[in-house]
Amino acid sequence: MNIEVLTIFPDMFDSFLAYGIVSRAIKSGRIRVSPVNIRDYAAGKHRQTDDRPYGGGAGMVMMPEPLAGSINAARKKDGRAKVILLTPQGRPFDQDTAGKLAKESGLVFVCGRYEGVDERIRSDYIDDEISIGDYVLTGGEIAAMVVIDAVIRLIPGVLGSDESATADSFSNGLLEHAHYTRPQIFRAGAVPDVLLSGNHAKIDEWRLESALVRTFLKRPDLLEKKALSSREKAILKKWCDNIERLVSGQDSGHQGGDALSRADTLSGEEP
Ligand code: SAM
Repeated sequence: MNIEVLTIFPDMFDSFLAYGIVSRAIKSGRIRVSPVNIRDYAAGKHRQTDDRPYGGGAGMVMMPEPLAGSINAARKKDGRAKVILLTPQGRPFDQDTAGKLAKESGLVFVCGRYEGVDERIRSDYIDDEISIGDYVLTGGEIAAMVVIDAVIRLIPGVLGSDESATADSFSNGLLEHAHYTRPQIFRAGAVPDVLLSGNHAKIDEWRLESALVRTFLKRPDLLEKKALSSREKAILKKWCDNIERLVSGQDSGHQGGDALSRADTLSGEEP
């Protein structure tokens, strides 16, 4: 995939492109990322890229000509590339959008600065507008890095086989299960026995339960949107039943006892 980033601060991308999976994906030839200086397409001695807003008011606006010039040059190189404006007014970025963008042959990201870009660029040159959240950054560069980072790890072959994205949070409508590594005991916490058992069916079951419970606790909105399988429904129902037993045990003067006996295997996620 060819990615061009149109920016007045191309050097901001140096470290981003030099490390980890992004750098590996570039070296393997699976992606090419080219930061392009919008200033190279600006006219005049000062290569001005911004000007005062018509109608007055605070701040500056990115001028249309340098943006149009840099977008046209990018389109000349790859006519099928999708041109995306980073803007807090865009549609919220999520894993689903990342997956769709990962299937494109080329992407061009337009990074705004100041008060943003001239409206005629937005209306005439942009295929899609993306926001990385309901807050305002000083520029589109960090937003472009966020989107590029999330997109490229979904391009086939970019992640190694031991780094699969299929169980990642949001990829199946759930947050991902809990993770543990050595040591087996850290402070008061022990790794759940099931993860040491070597029984892969049981480990899978535990992981699904962990994913469901933490999604319920941290992001119930995701569960509302997800079509649950019968296995997933059964796991959640078991948790409901456990909680009901605990509460009725308290009402009748008994401690919960083993009502949540399964909960301690999902350490850190007991309701
Ligand atoms: N005046 C604009 C507004 O209120 O909609 C905000 C401009 S912001 C200071 C400058 C640039 O940062 C924007 O043109 C955009 O490229 C980028 N930016 C800021 N917040 C962003 C966000 N949440 N998502 C994506 N890009 C953002």
